[in-house]
Amino acid sequence: MFYIKLNLMLLLFTVALISCSQTPTLKNNEQNLNDSNMIHKTDAEWKAQLSNEQYYVLREKGTERPFTGALLMNKEKGVYKCAGCGAELFTDNMKFDSHCGWPSFDKEIAGGKITQTTDRSHGMVRTEITCTKCGGHLGHIFDDGPTETGKRYCVNSISLEFVPANKISESNVTNTIDSIVLGGGCFWCTEAIYEMLDGVISVESGYSGGNIKKPSYRDVCTGNTNHAEVVKIVFDNTKTNLDEIFKVFFATHNPTTLNQQGADRGSQYRSVIFYANEKQKEIATSLISELNKNVYDNKIVTTLEPFSQFYKAEDYHQNYYSSNTEKPYCKSVITPKIEKFEKLFKDRLKKK
Ligand SMILES: [Zn+2]
Repeated sequence: MFYIKLNLMLLLFTVALISCSQTPTLKNNEQNLNDSNMIHKTDAEWKAQLSNEQYYVLREKGTERPFTGALLMNKEKGVYKCAGCGAELFTDNMKFDSHCGWPSFDKEIAGGKITQTTDRSHGMVRTEITCTKCGGHLGHIFDDGPTETGKRYCVNSISLEFVPANKISESNVTNTIDSIVLGGGCFWCTEAIYEMLDGVISVESGYSGGNIKKPSYRDVCTGNTNHAEVVKIVFDNTKTNLDEIFKVFFATHNPTTLNQQGADRGSQYRSVIFYANEKQKEIATSLISELNKNVYDNKIVTTLEPFSQFYKAEDYHQNYYSSNTEKPYCKSVITPKIEKFEKLFKDRLKKK
């Protein structure tokens, strides 16, 4: 009876939290760039920095030949930056195959990073898109996109630099792209849940917090290395935020059982948040004290540990649930968690 009451309270509380968090705060991203953030370089400086082809497209508004760009067919997870100045413009889930010969996107990362201007060259009226920060020519935007936005950002591949999600580390995060490492028991479960949350760019399963280098799954399973099974989540701050990531975390595992999730026991299954900076620690601390007060009666055992290293787990652990949905563990343990998550966060799921 006590547990039913607890679950009901958690449900109610989570619903209350969600209703406050449907629109993630966009503090750092919604202001357009002002002039002091813009880059002004002479032609000579641009020529020294860029290749001849990049200079032709970015600075002279040239167009690369269709079907020749290196990023045209790229389907990797990650972020597309301006090749002139590094401004983050698109993420992989905005890209689609338009068959037009140039990388195409249906939306941009918010924050006024792309400027639109009417272009009357070549006897046509088109809308040119340029990088707001450096003025570099990207391509054009059209109203014939096949997705719900109706937009097609048609971008020269050479105007872009691609950073794969696994290369986005704690050291080069920005206001737009951030990452967090956390453990809520078996990483197969945690990974499957976050893969579904809108704004999450990538999730990798791995190990953190232990005392040997490059541990294997077998090492970690002994419980003697002090590693936790964790996920590294890279996310787009314009579509979700750390607060929401933590709310999903607390709503989908039990933070009150020490070194245990269901039948999984051992310190490798501990509930843990590895914070990479003071801001992450503060957001976690404040949510935990709120939940302790309102829902858990001070019973939360989740540890806050400083992040030092993430070791990616063996390949067969990545996307385990989606590759093994019919296995008994997935059906009996993971599927119910997914269903709970889908119900609680139904407005925040990625569009299929
Ligand atoms: Zn730029």
